Amino acid sequence: MTLRTLESLGSLAGKRVIVRCDLNVPLKDGVITDDGRVRASLPTLNALINQGARVVVVSHLGRPDGAPDARYSLAPVAQRLSELLGKPVTFARDTVGSGAQDAVASLGDGDVALLENLRFNPGETSKSEDERTAFAAKLAALADAFVSDGFGVVHRKQASVYELAQALPSAAGLLIQAELDVLDRLTENPEAPYTVVLGGSKVSDKLGVIDHLLPRVNSLLIGGGMLFTFLAALGHKVGSSLLESDQLDTVKEYLTRAEQLGVEIVLPTDVVVASKFAADAEHVVRPAEAIEDTDWGASGLGLDIGPETAERFAGVIRASHTVFWNGPMGVFELAPFATGTRAIAEALTQVDGLGVVGGGDSAAAVRALGFADDQFGHISTGGGASLEFLEGKRLPGLEVLGWQ
Ligand code: ADP
Ligand code: MG
Repeated sequence: MTLRTLESLGSLAGKRVIVRCDLNVPLKDGVITDDGRVRASLPTLNALINQGARVVVVSHLGRPDGAPDARYSLAPVAQRLSELLGKPVTFARDTVGSGAQDAVASLGDGDVALLENLRFNPGETSKSEDERTAFAAKLAALADAFVSDGFGVVHRKQASVYELAQALPSAAGLLIQAELDVLDRLTENPEAPYTVVLGGSKVSDKLGVIDHLLPRVNSLLIGGGMLFTFLAALGHKVGSSLLESDQLDTVKEYLTRAEQLGVEIVLPTDVVVASKFAADAEHVVRPAEAIEDTDWGASGLGLDIGPETAERFAGVIRASHTVFWNGPMGVFELAPFATGTRAIAEALTQVDGLGVVGGGDSAAAVRALGFADDQFGHISTGGGASLEFLEGKRLPGLEVLGWQ
């Protein structure tokens, strides 16, 4: 790892430093429901403040359509950031217009401004390199140096991640360094037994990571919506549960390869089957091969792993020295189907070694279930980015900072 560090930028006292953070927090009615990403950005921001830099924070929030949209304003984030930093944060009503220029001009040494949502500008995520470069040049005009610290976006070739890093003297922030240290420990000689737990909604999202990790792990535990594609590949009926029929052949291939490699793919032996997708649904526990054997027949929905499976998964996790978990075990957003996810989170807190939670929904799930961040070895702020790293992909936002 040869990422350019903050020190490589020299003294930043009095300099305007633009910092790309990932402050893409979940909001409900304008209120932040999980401020994990804001908190994760603090070490870098405090380091810059303490040096007397003039700190200009930029981020995206949600997926607005390249134009201002009040639903995706970063204004609530500015307030939370100010509370967490314990000092005022000037909020600019635009990203590269007169609002941003005035906000930056008003900064004294050690002051902080947050600019409005990057994605209110079509250039941020444009497919055209010229458009991205033009937008990055406007951002670059606001500052003397660039610090990239939005780990959740380093797998994206976007203006504020990639082109901006080329337009100014640039370096990686402390969050990116910390995330990479952990991901390196998962890929370079992880301490055995090494277990990967995968869940979430789609197999197709996780195929790359299964493919790359299969030869490296001792056990692969499969839960969440993707378990049904595995059960179907074994010839079981899965009712109306999530099923990706176009992935059945790939999944069969993985099962065969795992056997050849001596890797244990652990599939659920029991499942929670529900009458409908709702918190007040009727539900029962059924063996994995008898999902349709309920009053609801083929319309029954598998929404969580069963208690026997949860216990078995927890046992494998506790006996491991390295564990990476991505993807909730069930539809944890509905209380009756959060049990499997809770059991896996609990077991992860008891790992004698490194236990890592990766993925936006997975991180939100453990916090929503009442776990504290420091109960885990690490909670990654980037879902897609950590998966792509573990898939062995080149990440443009890191390469541009000197990483190879
Ligand atoms: P992450 O963001 O951590 O990578 P994903 O986005 O892959 O996780 O998946 C999270 C979603 O998977 C959650 O919204 C959860 O409700 C859903 N999910 C988990 N189990 C099931 C299931 N059995 N059926 C349908 N959806 C599921
Ligand atoms: Mg997700």
